[in-house]
Amino acid sequence: MSCKCGSERIAYVSAKCSDMCNVSIGAKELNDCVPRDMGIGHGDYVEFSYCLDCGQIQGEFPLEKTDLEGSEEEEDPLYGYQSEDEN
Ligand SMILES: [Zn+2]
Repeated sequence: MSCKCGSERIAYVSAKCSDMCNVSIGAKELNDCVPRDMGIGHGDYVEFSYCLDCGQIQGEFPLEKTDLEGSEEEEDPLYGYQSEDEN
């Protein structure tokens, strides 16, 4: 196994956190089991490999839009349609 950068210094990490996983994307936050759609393991385990030379997480990227990203409507949708006079 080697990285796209050519290095073979690939570290594998597996950490059991069960439902105490905290993930955030901007203001959106998740406190639950590890989400399976983010390329960092799933369920009880954070699990991924990364390159010790370039830092890149190994796997297939880009990923599809994650559940976390699509989990909520934009904040205060009406607020964005207010008059432009308020500067
Ligand atoms: Zn690399």
